Amino acid sequence: MTRTYLIKPVLDHKYSFITHGEGIYLYDEQGKQYIDGSSGAVTASIGHGVQEITDAMKEQSEKVSFVYRSQFSTEVAEQLAKKISQISPGDLNWSFFVNSGSEATEMAMKIAIQYWQEKGMNTKNKIISRWMSYHGMTMGALSMSGHIQRRERFELMLENYPSVSAPYYYRDVNYRTIEECDDYYAQELEKEILRVGKDHIAAFIAEPMVGAAGGALTPSNGYFQKIKSVCDEYNILFIADEVMTGLGRTGKMFGMEHFDVTPDIMAIGKGMSAGYTPMAATVVSEKVMEPIRSGSKVVMGGHTFSANPQSAATSLAVLNYIEKHHLVENSARQGAYLKEKINELAEESEIIGDVRGKGLFVGVEFVEDKLTKKSFESRLNVANKIVEANFEQGLLVYPANAGADGLTGDAVILSPPLTITMEEVDELVKRFGVALEKIEQELLGTLSK
Ligand code: PMP
Repeated sequence: MTRTYLIKPVLDHKYSFITHGEGIYLYDEQGKQYIDGSSGAVTASIGHGVQEITDAMKEQSEKVSFVYRSQFSTEVAEQLAKKISQISPGDLNWSFFVNSGSEATEMAMKIAIQYWQEKGMNTKNKIISRWMSYHGMTMGALSMSGHIQRRERFELMLENYPSVSAPYYYRDVNYRTIEECDDYYAQELEKEILRVGKDHIAAFIAEPMVGAAGGALTPSNGYFQKIKSVCDEYNILFIADEVMTGLGRTGKMFGMEHFDVTPDIMAIGKGMSAGYTPMAATVVSEKVMEPIRSGSKVVMGGHTFSANPQSAATSLAVLNYIEKHHLVENSARQGAYLKEKINELAEESEIIGDVRGKGLFVGVEFVEDKLTKKSFESRLNVANKIVEANFEQGLLVYPANAGADGLTGDAVILSPPLTITMEEVDELVKRFGVALEKIEQELLGTLSK
């Protein structure tokens, strides 16, 4: 390979060059076809090369591509905010536009803190999050994240925010029923609030289903209701990080809708523009905006590219496309089918310990021993081996951590574009099955040595 001048977050030799994409497929310069079984990083939700989107992008760029958010608003940014208010549950009516999921969760944190300041409670400025969580790479977002590998280099610079367990029934039911687990998680939250002091905590943040730090860990129907009532009791705002789970990914428009809990603030990104341009948002309820709007200070945040009209037009076209083509319903339908097929593979497999998730957000956890649920040793790097074996078969899957300690444990997420058909799911499962068999033999061979 000729030398490269681009800093990449993984080793260079892993890259091949993608020349184009169409629907659920990507093609590299050797003409190899990949099923985008992870939608990149759970992002390309409507698939690649969709003309309705590229038309909308072109149309907007011919009008205006950039205005500075502090000087002007645009019709298209207003329309996008209106659209988000229409599709969001409860009184989540206000949007603050940013460019990445990290900025969206960090902005959620800042708005939560401002809310309490406007109410005269300046000491409420910590955020409680969960051990198995990932909310972004910027320092505020990373401070709220439990993801050990992503934190470790910056640990000394991060805020030491309080943290509690995320529901991980696959392992936790070894000791308790699911209902007892939920009571335990809620009590743990309550104890942590009492330890830190409710007057020091602005908000609790959680992913409806844990992505990168858990592999689509899915709570019971009752979990979030118990958690939310603890938050309400102690005057703590509830932030849902829907960056991965939002916009149809889990078979509902937003992940939290599965659990009948409406957050006070919600972060969205990824599928919001389906990857066509960077775009994310912090969506804020009337309840939270009311004291801020009647106060004397503006919301302190925003970046040069916030509410960029080009990205706003793209995102609006994506949200309209999701509605027009009933992609939320397709996600529920094809997701159920995908999960059923992966469960069939799991029955035969010696290393698939758990299959979980909702809609087209399916997590698969791999273990050395299905009976004891013992994880593979981390030095074996099993999640990455699974990713590579699938890559060879022309299938992209997303690696995740899934250990009880947040360090060991291997999972992958299957999250193809929401446009996927049943035949395409069959093809995806076929490739996954071939990779699985290969890796299984390799791993079991290594272990018996
Ligand atoms: N929150 C969640 C739940 C995520 O999965 C991610 C990205 N993986 C982020 C926040 C950060 O988003 P971004 O990479 O766009 O900054």
